[in-house]
Amino acid sequence: MEIAPNVHQIEGIPPVSNAYLIVGEDGLLLVDTGIAWAARGVLRYIRRLGFDPSAVKAIFITHGDGDHIGGLHAIARETGASVVAHRAEVPLVEGRDVRRPTAPSSADRLMAPLVRLVMPSKPVAVSHPVGDGDSAFGLTVIHAPGHSPGSACYLLPAQKVLFAGDALTHWGGHLALPMKAYTTDMAEAVRSIQRLAQHDFEVCCFGHGPAITSDARAAIADFAARLQESRL
Ligand SMILES: [Zn+2]
Repeated sequence: MEIAPNVHQIEGIPPVSNAYLIVGEDGLLLVDTGIAWAARGVLRYIRRLGFDPSAVKAIFITHGDGDHIGGLHAIARETGASVVAHRAEVPLVEGRDVRRPTAPSSADRLMAPLVRLVMPSKPVAVSHPVGDGDSAFGLTVIHAPGHSPGSACYLLPAQKVLFAGDALTHWGGHLALPMKAYTTDMAEAVRSIQRLAQHDFEVCCFGHGPAITSDARAAIADFAARLQESRL
């Protein structure tokens, strides 16, 4: 489904998390890959648009949770694409670190092995470790720590599209903080949302929930202001 000119939310993958495809003049870019079982659907979507998987030049990873990098191993192998992630997230993507629930309830602690079972991910080398303000393949990197130390958002400046990952979520028509049990530092997540609102974008694509396709910056600025008030 094309949600902005040349920006697709990939359909036909398990509805656990979102993955996006940008159709550029020099090739395709992916943002996140969904869970492991999404890989086939992502590749099928690319072929359905009339492209060979080798047209994918880079895969941008917003953060190293299994619901975002599960499909990465298979898609990177099939496409030969570069892999872009914030340098603080590289240990997770490369399998040298594991996500654990933070401040977990006993239920979260019990669920953690199950979450890993449902959302497996194989280690993949990050060819392009990036930092805040960097530009890679035409996207601008915005470091948005909180949900995880190396969470990153990516801005497509020409089309004013922001890919927010899990810096915040969009459920049932409402913006919300990332899932508490899997957020490393919620105060930092709030500061990241406030900084995001200072960037120039019109459309916002989330890791979870539908995209906001107009006036997204204003919606996020409003959410950031409400967070600020509730924390004073
Ligand atoms: Zn997620």
